[in-house]
Amino acid sequence: MSEAEKRPTNFIRQIIDADLENGKHSSVQTRFPPEPNGFLHIGHAKAICLNFGIAQDYQGLCNLRFDDTNPEKEDIDYVNSIQEDVKWLGFDWAGKVHYSSDYFDQLHDFAVELIEKGLAYVCFLNADEAREYRGSLKAPGKNSPFRDTSVADNLALFAKMKAGKCAEGECVLRAKIDMTSSFMCLRDPIIYRVRFAHHHQTADKWCIYPMYDFTHCLSDAIEGITHSLCTLEFQDNRRLYDWVLENVSIDVVPHQYEFSRLNLEYTVMSKRKLHTLVDEKLVNGWDDPRMPTIAAFRRRGYTPGSLREFAKRIGVTKMDNTVEIGVLEACIREDLNDNAPRAMAVLDPIKLVIENYPAGQVEELTVKNHPSDDEQGTRIVPFAAELYIEAEDFREEANKKYKRLVLDKAVRLRGAYVVTATRCDKDSEGNVTTVYGNYNADTLGKNPEDGTKPKGVIHWVAAQQSIDAEIRLYDRLFNIPNPAAAENFQSVMNEDSLITISHAKVEPSLANAKPEQAFQFERQGYFCRDNKDSQGDKLVFNRTVGLRDTWAKMDN
Ligand code: ATP
Ligand code: MG
Repeated sequence: MSEAEKRPTNFIRQIIDADLENGKHSSVQTRFPPEPNGFLHIGHAKAICLNFGIAQDYQGLCNLRFDDTNPEKEDIDYVNSIQEDVKWLGFDWAGKVHYSSDYFDQLHDFAVELIEKGLAYVCFLNADEAREYRGSLKAPGKNSPFRDTSVADNLALFAKMKAGKCAEGECVLRAKIDMTSSFMCLRDPIIYRVRFAHHHQTADKWCIYPMYDFTHCLSDAIEGITHSLCTLEFQDNRRLYDWVLENVSIDVVPHQYEFSRLNLEYTVMSKRKLHTLVDEKLVNGWDDPRMPTIAAFRRRGYTPGSLREFAKRIGVTKMDNTVEIGVLEACIREDLNDNAPRAMAVLDPIKLVIENYPAGQVEELTVKNHPSDDEQGTRIVPFAAELYIEAEDFREEANKKYKRLVLDKAVRLRGAYVVTATRCDKDSEGNVTTVYGNYNADTLGKNPEDGTKPKGVIHWVAAQQSIDAEIRLYDRLFNIPNPAAAENFQSVMNEDSLITISHAKVEPSLANAKPEQAFQFERQGYFCRDNKDSQGDKLVFNRTVGLRDTWAKMDN
């Protein structure tokens, strides 16, 4: 398959193909315009892959532009995290990072131009009055009594706003469009408001800030954006986008196209709700692996390639829909199945003592890191008389379906010998604490000569040589597929979304795991070393995803 054939196709790419073919554009320029008021989430990953992906495939450029017109809600920490996330996803922006605030001088001048043309006015209606004048979807609005102020007076009033002589909420600058329009966004929308707020980029230079709809189209035009891609809720606002560009002196006219946002089952994506989760400590920060943020997926062990693959699989359309978690999990599972080295970790350890193995002897077994990819090499796993196995992998008696260790039956220890259990110790509550057995010394890498091939294989670690690790098992954060629709989304949170196992035993090679490095813990799932709490000797592993899709089963 050629590179071009591998590219995704969607209605936006079809529009671009046509624009290039008929000469409307000779090159493509897109942008990704996050507001730095929170961490990026998986929905943003969709928009990033779309915008940067198009720039890549058409040899065009994609800008990173911070849409920073709302200083009270924004923060430099978000500016930094967003840049890190875009880079981590594998993309790079054209030239320097852009900010809408880079254009505050130009935007101000465009506003003055609109006033001079009689297309903008300073309005003193208070919030309640403004609401009443705006009308509703069923009723037209009414003209503001300030709509016919003279150009000269409006210029003076806007200068007064800029000079800090008007209070917040006292007045706003509005575009003069049409109070009877069926598009609410055209009913003389606010384009500037007064805010005495410190801005992370422009400090205290401004006390008037432009509104999103006024800023966005002009920023696109200033940057020479050809295709401005945004989510469907801005469909109506396209009229305002075009109105502003038609009415100011600017040459380049970008066009806005809308696509449907990503919704993911069992997930909330609104920044307000994500803020609540963080602020009310319902999760442990923006990068808590249960969050839908890019930083959280990274910490949980998702790879950039798996998120890009997810974006490709869900595609880009104009249809609203909700994607099943299984689609996302399949992407990371396929990636890690191919690429994650195997290792052994015992999450709920009980001892297995091999009584016929020389006490004190330690054998260094060479074990393949991947069952089918020899290029991933081998590692040394120590074997000794005292091992740990999973409690659930031993039973005193069991039927044939249970292919693990049973008294008087044989099982293979992964990468090592065949063992047979002979007896066990129990605590006062009847829980097995230690299993005793014998090994067959002639079964390393081969079946027993007597033809009794054991049915099962279990994982293990050598007791003395293993190391302690904390293992965090994550589950969905919400109990219902659409938590955003719940009246109180906190009431539908899953109480078992994090289970911490503090005394797991893992094989010694895992001491060298790097932060975010992924492994398949044999028979348990995919895990990665935590990038925050696993410092120095402390080993913490996060479960990225289980070995199989368990969602379908849970939902039915
Ligand atoms: P808020 O929740 O604060 O309104 P937002 O989710 O729209 O914010 P922005 O920072 O404004 O966040 O988004 C940047 C870009 O990412 C926009 O172009 C937006 O359309 C896109 N985007 C945001 N959420 C999604 C989503 N769920 N699916 C696809 N694209 C999204
Ligand atoms: Mg937004």
